[in-house]
Amino acid sequence: MKFQLTEDQLMIKQAAREFAQNELKPGVIERDSHMKYPAEQVQRMGELGLLGMMVNPEYGGGGMDTVSYVLAMEELSKIDNSCSVIMSVNNSLVCWGLEKYGTEEQKRKYLPNLTAGDKIGAFCLSEPEAGSDATSQRTTAEDKGDYYLLNGTKNWITNGGSASVYLVMAQTDVAKGSKGINCLIVEKGMDGFIVGAKEDKLGIRSSDTNTLIFNDVKVPKENRIGDNGFGFTFAMQTLSGGRIGIAAQALGIAAGAYELALDYAKTRKAFGKEISQHQAIQFKLADMATEIEAARLLVYHAAWLKDQNQNYDLASSMAKVFASEVAMRTTVEAVQIHGGYGYVKEYHVERLMRDAKITQIYEGTSEVQRIVISRSILK
Ligand SMILES: Cc1cc2nc3c(=O)[nH]c(=O)nc-3n(C[C@H](O)[C@H](O)[C@H](O)COP(=O)(O)OP(=O)(O)OC[C@H]3O[C@@H](n4cnc5c(N)ncnc54)[C@H](O)[C@@H]3O)c2cc1C
Repeated sequence: MKFQLTEDQLMIKQAAREFAQNELKPGVIERDSHMKYPAEQVQRMGELGLLGMMVNPEYGGGGMDTVSYVLAMEELSKIDNSCSVIMSVNNSLVCWGLEKYGTEEQKRKYLPNLTAGDKIGAFCLSEPEAGSDATSQRTTAEDKGDYYLLNGTKNWITNGGSASVYLVMAQTDVAKGSKGINCLIVEKGMDGFIVGAKEDKLGIRSSDTNTLIFNDVKVPKENRIGDNGFGFTFAMQTLSGGRIGIAAQALGIAAGAYELALDYAKTRKAFGKEISQHQAIQFKLADMATEIEAARLLVYHAAWLKDQNQNYDLASSMAKVFASEVAMRTTVEAVQIHGGYGYVKEYHVERLMRDAKITQIYEGTSEVQRIVISRSILK
């Protein structure tokens, strides 16, 4: 067992930290308040290689391992979770899915732009009537010979407005249930594809989350990923890896709130001494540090399993459910340690508390993770 990061991994962590502290922190409060999409920051993320970290350099990626990716996700998530969710969806759902299951032609066509950040990707599974129960797809992809006719509505789609490449799950053969679902690559600008309004959210407010509407969109057959009927398996396998990214996001939120609370506790005085000298605050900090370390081990372990080509489905669900709950608990306590100052935007912890909540919901709710975990341990 080795618990040490390599030189390369440490360098990536440091570079991501510097980028987050120097380039994401200034302006993060305003972007969050005004729901302003971080266009310049995303462009920089592309330049720095943060948008296709694990993709083979042959397709423009960084060729890095999953551990490096979670280290970078953790550092960005300490500061700006709108940027880190954009990064997570682009890396783990879109680029990973395309590279793993796409045809050579699809990879050459889409990956170089997606890894450079010239184009952003979106992953479109959820619908008004299909969230946790993702098999209930109402969006249809009718087989018309050399193309699919796509009709339906997707909602809650991260990067919905800013993306150019959309991986859309749709039902082709209802009789086959989940085995009749396909994943199609849809491009912005295709006739009949409409991007709906941006949601006004509790957290990750500057990332865009939109409803997407497909009205008789003709999608060429060559845009299908995998064999006919592979779409649901594609979505589940991609989400299993995606959960490691969201777990890393949750870990970063918790660690970021903890760092702020620790610094604050050492400077704020009450009753003639720093509040860090009061045992009640010390115990909060001790619990935060312990839980964060436990979450970190789960997240890094899940990433390591993926890098070793071992099964990581159980590990990624465990990492996500635990890290997201640690993120909630830690951010609530970080606000408490800041007292009244924690309740206002200037001190950053209230934003992290709002951001933490989504990590318990997207890419499978905490309840869904527990279903995955219990199925695995009971089989
Ligand atoms: C900001 C944001 C970004 C998102 N980004 C994307 C995206 O990019 N792409 C995408 O496809 N989707 C995205 N989603 C959708 C997200 O994945 C879903 O919201 C999530 O899967 C839950 O689905 P739902 O909202 O329909 O809730 P429901 O499935 O209706 O669940 C409601 C509640 O019931 C619980 N529940 C449901 N079934 C069970 C069960 N069997 N046992 C116990 N409890 C259960 C759930 O855990 C939850 O607490 C995003 C959502 C948000 C809010």
